[in-house]
Amino acid sequence: MWFRPEREAPPTAGLPLGLADLGGAVPAPLTALAAQWLGMDEAQLECSGTAALTVALTALAGHARTRREVAIPAFTCPLVPLAIRRAGLEPRLVDLRAGHFDMDPDRLAEACSERTLAVVPTHLGGRTANVAMASAVARSVGAYVVEDAAQALGARIDDRAAGTHGDVGFFSLAAGKGLSIFEGGLLVAGDPVLRDSLRRTARRIARWQPGWELRRTLELAGYAALYRPRGLGMAYGHPLRRALRRGDMLGAAGEYFDADFPLHRVGRWRRAVGARAFHRLPDFISRTTAQARARLPALASIPGVHVFSDEGGTWPYLMLRLPDEATRDAVLHRLWASRHGVARMFVHALPDYPYLGTMAGGENVPHARDFAARTLTVTNSPWLDDASFEHVCAVIEATVVSR
Ligand SMILES: *Cc1c(COP(=O)(O)O)cnc(C)c1O
Repeated sequence: MWFRPEREAPPTAGLPLGLADLGGAVPAPLTALAAQWLGMDEAQLECSGTAALTVALTALAGHARTRREVAIPAFTCPLVPLAIRRAGLEPRLVDLRAGHFDMDPDRLAEACSERTLAVVPTHLGGRTANVAMASAVARSVGAYVVEDAAQALGARIDDRAAGTHGDVGFFSLAAGKGLSIFEGGLLVAGDPVLRDSLRRTARRIARWQPGWELRRTLELAGYAALYRPRGLGMAYGHPLRRALRRGDMLGAAGEYFDADFPLHRVGRWRRAVGARAFHRLPDFISRTTAQARARLPALASIPGVHVFSDEGGTWPYLMLRLPDEATRDAVLHRLWASRHGVARMFVHALPDYPYLGTMAGGENVPHARDFAARTLTVTNSPWLDDASFEHVCAVIEATVVSR
């Protein structure tokens, strides 16, 4: 008897790969396609968003040797402080605006000084951060701006690509983050002198490592095969549900990150896969944007639920803030293990990941903790059909109203 797996929606709207992406002619190098689309002269490819950030900070540190601190939001991907330390620098945590994912301007100003090498405004889930504010604070102390657009490839601010407003910007090409080559990162900078040092730094710290590239090649082939409604149960849902049964939140969210993450060059085949898929990205973004705009009102009309929105952003998922932690947890209790792509963004504020240890500024980040406690995400994958989306809305509404 044939086993037919159930359909499962991924937690984010990643661009699915097709068979045609895996072989055949390459229209142009991935970096050239990305640069042109982003409106930059060049783009550099690294083996992950984290590696791109590590290269960026290592290069910048060489231009300002007395500056050792990097100011980041206290709620962001735990890989960010790991990249900062890998570059030999220190993270300085900045609390958020109340109820928001972006850094509080006053707290950012307090955190910055002549020791600050860079400020990292961070776009989350396609929602754009206030880069102009972060840049003004950075400039006032002579620091660089490194824009974390890991989750925002294709987003725009004032009609320029998000990720191209700072001195350096980076994007993630990891599984599930828009365009994927399983693991990868794009790095951009406007200044030719900076670009040159980014290139030289990468040549020095991210060398060719055939073992890692072979592993990523197999992983990308597996991703291409299983990133589809009836493959995701095995690739994503099954391990998620096993972790949830153990009560292992970090496992469920995939957040056991290693300080010793790989730094290596990306091979030709994976570059070619990304280049072949690239032309579908603009249309995929238009379609997912239209779907998000159509679905947003239903969630936003639930009393006490706030849905983050803006002009120009992209929509990997809808980011929701609930009235309190107990309500958020009650919703997740009903939906995280479902096959409907409901999840958490990052489980904790940065000071609460045991493996990160202590970080400057971590003593006082109430808004980041509150944000971690009250938010959840609903996938914007086209594979979540209308009936399933309505079911998700109904469960959230019933949970919120009953409390
Ligand atoms: C995923 C992510 C990163 C790291 O990117 P990888 O490609 O996974 O290494 C950095 N910052 C943010 C905000 C992210 O979501």
